[in-house]
Order: sequence, then structure tokens, then C-alpha cells
Amino acid sequence: MSTGRLLIFSGPSGVGKDTLLDLWMARNPRLKRVCAATTRTPRTGEREGVDYFFLSREEFERLIAEGRFLEHAEYAGNYYGTPIEPMEALLAEGLVAVLKIETQGALQVMEKRPEAVSIFILPPSLEVLRERIVGRGTEDPAALQRRLVEAENEIALSERYQFQIVNDDLETALADLEDILERS
Ligand code: 5GP
Repeated sequence: MSTGRLLIFSGPSGVGKDTLLDLWMARNPRLKRVCAATTRTPRTGEREGVDYFFLSREEFERLIAEGRFLEHAEYAGNYYGTPIEPMEALLAEGLVAVLKIETQGALQVMEKRPEAVSIFILPPSLEVLRERIVGRGTEDPAALQRRLVEAENEIALSERYQFQIVNDDLETALADLEDILERS
């Protein structure tokens, strides 16, 4: 049984990290995202057990109490957490287990798993980020405002990551990501 690698992948809402990660995973079959758990409502098209495990607050809190999460955090009014079991299963297969998580959770993982590679995706500017979030149109005004505040707080923590990548040109960002994985 070989041991895989743990990769922390963070960036503010609207930075395009989903697109980046999806493309990277399509090109590198060793990368597998660990399906996280959340208490937020599914967005249109999201699937249980693929995008997230969608749980009630009660269920989530029970799993916290049982010690089933490597990390968990509250973000924009909802719980998010990384379940240990599926993550360990990917690592046991020798794969790169990707945690697409926000900063509070990422800091917990850096503590508990110092061997994890950590990458933060930055927008070219805050203005570009705002335009992308508004353009996506999935948030009501209050949620949008919360996400913008969260974004600024998250960017302030980007220096705690081993690597920072500006998502300006997609191909350049993808090449940088592959390079990081090869070198670390
Ligand atoms: P969204 O609601 O847009 O899917 O995710 C909101 C934020 O929560 C994103 O930054 C996302 O990366 C983060 N997130 C998703 N899963 C987890 C998780 O398991 N733990 C933590 N700490 N954050 C997560």
C-alpha cells in the first residue's frame, strides 16, 4: 500500500478555483477531491456525495462530537468539514487527496498534517473578484456582501500558505499548479 499526498486548495469565492481545479483534475488523474460535508442548501445541479454530503446541523454536530472530521469551520453561516475516512481512503490508494477548503479549516489541516502541500488562489484584483461574484448571480445581496467580506479576510491569510497563484491566465495557472506538485 503506497501513501498519497494531501493537498490544500483554497481561494476566495469567485476566484475561479472550481474551474481551475476541475481542469487540473481532468488532466492529472492522480488528483481526487475529498468530498466534504456541509449544512448549506444544495445549489442547482449539485449532487449528494459528489459535490458535498449535505447534512442537517444536528447530523453535522453529531459527526463533530464523534471526531469524524479532520477539520471543520463555519463559513457564511454554514458548517463545512472534511470527513477523515474518505480522505484516508484516497491517501491509502496513493492518490493526491485534494481538500478544497476555506482558510480556517486550512489552518487546522496545516497544524495537524504539516506534510500537506498548501496552495492559495488569488484574484488579479479585488475589483475583478467582485465582478465575478456578481456575474455568477447565485447569491442574494446579503449573501453576496457576506462573501465579499469573507473573501477579503481569506486573502489576508494567503501568506500562511506555501504557495500563492494568481488566477489571471488559466493555462499559466495550470502550469504553475502542476509544477508545484512535481517539485514538492
Ligand atoms: P461553497 O458554499 O461555495 O461551496 O463553499 C464555500 C467555501 O467553503 C469555499 O471556500 C469552499 O472551499 C469551502 N469548503 C468546502 N468544503 C469545505 C470543508 O470541508 N472544510 C472547510 N473548512 N471549508 C470547505
